[in-house]
Amino acid sequence: MSNPTIAVVGSGPIGSTYARVLLEQVPNARVIMFEAGPQLTAVPGESVRNIPDPAEKARAREMSQGPQAGAYRESLGIPAATVTEGMFTARQGTHLLDFGGVGSAHAPSFPAAAAATNVGGQGAHWTCATPSPAFSEKVAFIGDDEWDSLIEEAKGLLHVHSAAFADSKVGEAIRRLLDGEFGAELPEGYGVGTLPVAGDPQPDGSVRWAGADVVLGPLTDKASPLSQRFELRDLTLVRRVELDGHRVTGVTVQDLRTGDESFVPADVVVVAADAFRSPQLLWASGVRPKALGHYLTEHPVVISTVALDADKMKQFATEEDLDAELARRAQNPADPVAAVNRIPFSEPEHPFSVQVMYSESTPFPMEPGTPYSDNRWGYVNMGYGMRKHPRYEDAVTFDEDEQDYRGFPNMTIEYALTEREEKEIAEATERLRRAGKALGVFVAEPRLMPNGSSLHYQGTMRMGEADDGTSVADPWSRVWGYENLVVGGNALIPTATAMNPTLMSVAIAVRGARKIAKELS
Ligand code: FAD
Repeated sequence: MSNPTIAVVGSGPIGSTYARVLLEQVPNARVIMFEAGPQLTAVPGESVRNIPDPAEKARAREMSQGPQAGAYRESLGIPAATVTEGMFTARQGTHLLDFGGVGSAHAPSFPAAAAATNVGGQGAHWTCATPSPAFSEKVAFIGDDEWDSLIEEAKGLLHVHSAAFADSKVGEAIRRLLDGEFGAELPEGYGVGTLPVAGDPQPDGSVRWAGADVVLGPLTDKASPLSQRFELRDLTLVRRVELDGHRVTGVTVQDLRTGDESFVPADVVVVAADAFRSPQLLWASGVRPKALGHYLTEHPVVISTVALDADKMKQFATEEDLDAELARRAQNPADPVAAVNRIPFSEPEHPFSVQVMYSESTPFPMEPGTPYSDNRWGYVNMGYGMRKHPRYEDAVTFDEDEQDYRGFPNMTIEYALTEREEKEIAEATERLRRAGKALGVFVAEPRLMPNGSSLHYQGTMRMGEADDGTSVADPWSRVWGYENLVVGGNALIPTATAMNPTLMSVAIAVRGARKIAKELS
């Protein structure tokens, strides 16, 4: 095909993966990326965690909060939805789907469901943890060799480093204490270690966190020829994917600054607009496979905060080591993440993904004078992520007769944990107690977060090997029956996983992009 145009809906890490791979592999292709939210940083899609000034960082986060964005959103002339007293609050930079105002989704059983609406998507706000899927987390119909090559390419696109903060003596002491508690129970190769993160370690010991910016790479660098064939339109909402029978012809977009709608023709459309808004867009466009919106999973999460015990820590680190760590932290006090450790998922021994983040302060205020409120050895924030086993009835559904605040068919989310998950949650909570005792004293007891808190929403456009009604996309991420309509994101993940999903979703997107590239060439 001569000079094909690819329309990408959504500018998060997944849409950016499609743009990058396609422009690199199809020499005459052009990519237009549509993003409903505003651009936050000079380099499109950069992590807001890299913004050193706290006021600027807060403003960038507010700009991402869609219907809950307050003054910034109003200044764009986009009506803000009402915020109801007593509602859950979303993580900074995100906005709840069920926010309780006009046009709010209905999700009492999944109350913490949230999204980000900005260039870079949630990838401008994420924690950058990038473990690889293992055992039954992987997609069974993709062979191991191909899978390994996809994961390697995904790691390169996201700038994944396995040894960030590995030189931290405080981090090492935490690892050794955890290893003493759990090491003997864990299989070889899946013991306590450092957490792979997406970012570039800097000479001063800090990390420049990765967002969609590093995935886009040369596409936004004016000096690169690839940038000539790439266009990013922010504050542009894709309203419909247009079809001629079972072929996509392009997208109808609305410029949110002017309200004007127009049709943009495209040879391929990639929908990567998150695990709720992608199926919503497909449904609104009349693409409604049986599995669309169903098999919703996430990670039940149990979290706690522990004050590190000086005597325990001093078995493996000195006061001088601590001073060195605190000096490093002082260079970027606005970044809450320092040494990060983990225990990965393994089967059957350890069906959990554990994250242990060191911090010199607690993520919540503590009254001065209360025990451990000023703990010289600092704290760890620990979380156990668990599996949710896919079921058809856990689903987002859409209502033709009720519009949401954007004028799309409104969403209702139905979701329940079953005995299977309750059992794993109880086991994880028990292990979290053991981990806390091994390290120090709880200043926040283990607690199960409300459904939706993980921000890792999966399964609503799952990929499958056969068009049997239990999947939305084929093994190359094309919607069954539509060969030029491609979907991307965590929604494609068909398995029950415990690990953070973005690396896996980028790997799946690389596979989809390679396939389109082959066909277009
Ligand atoms: P998104 O990043 O959500 O991007 C989708 C984009 O599509 C959004 O910008 C949205 O505005 C846009 N969009 C939606 N509808 C339309 C439309 N109709 N027209 C145009 N644009 C549209 N994952 C990990 O793996 N590790 C972590 O440590 C981690 N930590 C996280 C911490 C936080 C605070 C958050 C918020 C997320 C975290 N995640 C983490 C999740 C991670 O950010 C997501 O997995 C990833 O961003 C998904 O990428 P995506 O491109 O599929 O979707």
